[in-house]
Amino acid sequence: MQTQFGRFGGQFVPPQVITALNELETAFEAAKKDPSFEEEFKYYLKQYVGRENPLYYAKNLSESLGGAKIYLKREDLNHTGAHKINNTIGQILLAKRMGKKKVIAETGAGQHGVATATAAALFGMECEIFQGSIDMERQRLNVYRMEMLGAKVTGVSQGTATLSDAVDVAINAWVERLDDTFYLLGSAVGPHPFPSMVRYFQRVIGEEAKAQILAQENRLPDYLIACVGGGSNAIGLFQTFLADQDVNIIGVEAAGKGIQTNQHAATMTLGKESVIHGMNTKVVLNAQGDISPVYSISAGLDYPGVGPEHAHLQETGRVNYVHASDKEAVEAMYLLSAKEGIIPAIETAHAIAEAVKLAPTLSNDKIIIINLSGRGDKDVEAMYNLQESPQKD
Ligand SMILES: *Cc1c(COP(=O)(O)O)cnc(C)c1O
Repeated sequence: MQTQFGRFGGQFVPPQVITALNELETAFEAAKKDPSFEEEFKYYLKQYVGRENPLYYAKNLSESLGGAKIYLKREDLNHTGAHKINNTIGQILLAKRMGKKKVIAETGAGQHGVATATAAALFGMECEIFQGSIDMERQRLNVYRMEMLGAKVTGVSQGTATLSDAVDVAINAWVERLDDTFYLLGSAVGPHPFPSMVRYFQRVIGEEAKAQILAQENRLPDYLIACVGGGSNAIGLFQTFLADQDVNIIGVEAAGKGIQTNQHAATMTLGKESVIHGMNTKVVLNAQGDISPVYSISAGLDYPGVGPEHAHLQETGRVNYVHASDKEAVEAMYLLSAKEGIIPAIETAHAIAEAVKLAPTLSNDKIIIINLSGRGDKDVEAMYNLQESPQKD
């Protein structure tokens, strides 16, 4: 199996971790070849996650923007409200197959932690989630949600006490508990084979979308748009279309308060090639060449690295990476809510913001598919608080 995407990816980890990664790769390759594994995965995607979800023609939004036809791939309708559950179900089935009894995971705001705790509850596995202590403070309800699902949440107070540090601690904990523990990574990042594995478990998004657009429009879309944090929902949609050269593909990252400020998470736009969390990829660095703190209104896009395949797809020019600011995302979130009765996650709203710019420039026979990666229930309180103290940009 290929361990890199062009120059990007690889395994930049200590030797003990290599052993664990090799065991994981062997198990993953064997599972992919076993039809009963695929059958079980499909069973849970249908009966538990609730797939397939619709590819919905957003007629009101399209007409109000006055250009291309916009379709929404409704990952927000999945159990737990986002695409993350596709990956956690896939990886936990692999953990079960490997005979592991416990899973550990990192989480930032808690979305991946909740998806992991959900899958662990379903399969009766012991579950421990590492979360920065600052994030725990900010996300008390998600901590409680994970605890309701039976998980133990362990605070990480080292470094900046946020996601990046939680990943480091989770990897170390994994190395110490290899015999019975599976590390369930939340995005298309980390050392090989994680980016390829997460890509594999998220491919269902693009496979469904392709069949659905062919059924509804009898042709492929002109554009795909997805938001990019680590890049799992984006690669989940994009991969099936990469060989279709007439399909333009756009990834949208978070510009936070603006790429001219130092409060952004614009890894693809401003990052440099470097190593983070076991992979060679693009990373936001400070003037000293160290990993820089990043910022976005959206916790899910607030990551200083990006999946290595995205760095490669940018370099080859197959995918175009752009950015949307906090302000643009918030406006897009309100727009979709008002026009379609769908409140998107603030992460997803970055992808919608790009469609708001693009659609009016296209004729109305063009088709855009946006990956609606998650629902916005979790963000309503933050939007309410913004109303109270309007953002300055
Ligand atoms: C976590 C999350 C993201 C960002 O993660 P990716 O791996 O880049 O997909 C995007 N949207 C939603 C709703 C999320 O929960």
